[in-house]
Amino acid sequence: TRIKGDYRYEIGDLASTLNYMADEIIRSNQIKDDFISSISHELRTPLTSIKGWSETLVSGGYDPEETKLGMGIISKESDRLIGLVEEILDFSKLQQNEMKLSMGRVDIKVLLQETILNIWAKAEKKRIHLLLECDETFFIKGDANRLKQVFLNLVDNAVKFSPEDSSIVLSAQRLTGSELAVIVRDSGIGISEAHLGRVRDRFFQVDALNGGTGLGLAISQQIVELHGGKLEMDSELGKGTQVTVILPMTEELPPEAPQAENLL
Ligand code: ADP
Repeated sequence: TRIKGDYRYEIGDLASTLNYMADEIIRSNQIKDDFISSISHELRTPLTSIKGWSETLVSGGYDPEETKLGMGIISKESDRLIGLVEEILDFSKLQQNEMKLSMGRVDIKVLLQETILNIWAKAEKKRIHLLLECDETFFIKGDANRLKQVFLNLVDNAVKFSPEDSSIVLSAQRLTGSELAVIVRDSGIGISEAHLGRVRDRFFQVDALNGGTGLGLAISQQIVELHGGKLEMDSELGKGTQVTVILPMTEELPPEAPQAENLL
């Protein structure tokens, strides 16, 4: 009868939905397992170095130069650990909708200059030139520290995936209407079309051997979205990558205007 047929159809439908859900659960568990193993490795590497150097220094007998070198490595590796833990905490805050923005009037040009200064030494090690193209002053309403975190993450990726002696360009330009585009462009290894759609997924990395957590772009995209903006990516394998952050702009205030929060 028809009723029997309908039931059969519904049961068949239900079974395929359940199968699909089971596959999704297995897939997301696999992603989490991969993340836990990659994050454990990321945490262990600096910890091993800190432990090794501190034991060496405690055992004594080193000249001041060697001691300074060891202390320098301990400090650098501790920073790396703090960075990793902060990234995981930020991600968890965003997941639970608990990231609070401290909004103020942000001068984008100043923020990009600060970003370049922060990452200068790292780029210098690969003789990478960091160029800023921003003729105008743009203001947006946002959380300066969080936006700097986004730009630092984008430039950090650009440095990581660019060859020595190359250039990275940061630029800011007005789009139509009251939108601003901040662009980070590199001429590095690029991302294939197949991977481009996934690099902003949490935990995703094209190659786990490159280090990192696979959280940077997911966090950056969510911070940009909390500002009412969006993050777009274009890339070509072997040619380079361009990340565009589009943000809503506030009206420009005259230079003499007081920069009070309530004027925004
Ligand atoms: P990670 O901490 O692993 O770098 P991200 O979320 O920042 O995490 O990036 C995810 C992945 O996207 C990277 O592992 C890399 O494979 C790819 N990627 C990001 N930025 C670039 C870039 N500028 N050039 C090439 N690949 C990139």
